[in-house]
Amino acid sequence: MTSNPPSIRELCQKSNYDAVIIGSGPNGVAAGIVLAQKGMSVVILEAQPTAGGGCRSGALTLPGYVHDICSSIHPLGIGSPFFRTLPLGKHGLKWVQPLAPFAQPFDGGRAVVVERDVIDTAHSLGPDGPAYIRLMSSLRPNWNQVCDALLNPTKLLFHPFAMSKFGLRALKSAEAFANSTFRTPLGKGLLAGIAAHSGLPLDTPTSAAIALTLGISAHAVGWPMPAGGAQKLMYALFSFFYELGGEVVTSARVNSLKELPTSKLVLCDITPRQMLEIAGDELPDAYKRRLKQYKYGTATFKMDFAMDGPIPWQAKEISRAGTVHIGNTLEEISASEKAIARGSTTDKPYVLLAQHTLFDPSRAPEGKHTVWAYCHVPNGSAVDMSGAIENQIERFAPGFKNLILARSITSPKQLQEHNANYIGGDINGGSLLPAQLFMRPTARLIPYATPVKGLYFCSSSTPPGPGVHGMCGYYAAQIALRGWR
Ligand SMILES: Cc1cc2nc3c(=O)[nH]c(=O)nc-3n(C[C@H](O)[C@H](O)[C@H](O)COP(=O)(O)OP(=O)(O)OC[C@H]3O[C@@H](n4cnc5c(N)ncnc54)[C@H](O)[C@@H]3O)c2cc1C
Repeated sequence: MTSNPPSIRELCQKSNYDAVIIGSGPNGVAAGIVLAQKGMSVVILEAQPTAGGGCRSGALTLPGYVHDICSSIHPLGIGSPFFRTLPLGKHGLKWVQPLAPFAQPFDGGRAVVVERDVIDTAHSLGPDGPAYIRLMSSLRPNWNQVCDALLNPTKLLFHPFAMSKFGLRALKSAEAFANSTFRTPLGKGLLAGIAAHSGLPLDTPTSAAIALTLGISAHAVGWPMPAGGAQKLMYALFSFFYELGGEVVTSARVNSLKELPTSKLVLCDITPRQMLEIAGDELPDAYKRRLKQYKYGTATFKMDFAMDGPIPWQAKEISRAGTVHIGNTLEEISASEKAIARGSTTDKPYVLLAQHTLFDPSRAPEGKHTVWAYCHVPNGSAVDMSGAIENQIERFAPGFKNLILARSITSPKQLQEHNANYIGGDINGGSLLPAQLFMRPTARLIPYATPVKGLYFCSSSTPPGPGVHGMCGYYAAQIALRGWR
């Protein structure tokens, strides 16, 4: 005889809370911490058997290898204005900084390595070195001002610093920005490699914003990884949340607001499509129509490798970097991302790769290595990109394939099964097209609030958008607290 699974109310320790949070990603727990710090009783409900959302690690290949299931490199985590206020070190978090934040190989065995130091970086850019120094010194990698913009992205447009130094450039397309700033394929390709994180075609206005933010962060805070796996960042956040009296319930998928224990506030670390499913009965029609117009972006096709040795890069200096952007020139990267926007793929995709074990050997058996890599594909695509990803790595590191001991493939469909927020494999909680970069999920003065009293969005579908920084959750919780008071 089979018994019914316990209801969400049965899984919770109490029948009444000050706040219920749906979803345990970085933004869900950030919101939970803000509220618990104010003495509120908070429960986080997580659909999956493990908490942590897009920041979890697991054994995806062979015993003894730790792989990051989703996020992997965390400039926004170490630089987060909110996370930096928390005692995460005391709760077990140790950041590991690679020798260099990131690098990009080019045909012919050439490479650009972005070092923590601007001048050192310029050395590897050859004739474009002076242009790089001019760019970075004009922006004066001032993380506090970038953080200010992160906290409230409208400041990207209206902050005086932003307007004069950052904002005007950020509004450009990455293609236009690269062509107007650099002369050589190395400089232009480097800019394209950073901008392509956005999953946007590189001729999209504002696609330069992503490149500038991530580029500044490399010099200001580095591109680190939590020692032992991305999950260690979430462990530290949860440990602090528990210390504040918070509760987390896993294997608790919320299908309707009606299932929840009673509470004054409900914060949702979910995207508009799930909000429509969960709260559709209570939302006014006009707001539902706007949520239905919300656009999801390109998807991710991910691979993880257990390796017999480090990647044998043709340009040896690439082994200094934690992250590698593979795609060669601006033209090639741009073609790859434009094809995706048209609904197709190329056999030379832009590949984002991380090589953690060069800097954190605890993630693999002695002498062995892990590789984390992904490329973009059209939303919902079923195309197998594993061969193309491996060929791209082999192109710049001959002998790579011979070192593969095991591989794990995660398709867009599997990503969504693993995390319901990844609609069609979109890992950004919605497209970063200009209309949705600053105003998400809808164009409202306070985008976190819904028309239903006490019901808020707190996910990466709100400003400042995707990444493991917790600022969407932080900001949503502040707004919710104001409403509550
Ligand atoms: C392959 C990949 C690589 C990435 N790389 C990086 C990187 O290197 N650096 C970086 O900063 N970011 C990276 N990201 C993006 C980053 O993971 C996300 O931007 C971030 O996790 C968003 O946080 P969030 O709290 O808004 O949502 P999520 O982390 O997605 O968490 C949402 C949570 O809500 C839960 N949930 C959804 N629906 C329900 C429901 N109905 N009931 C209960 N629970 C529900 C989900 O299971 C999930 O746990 C990557 C993501 C992926 C997938």
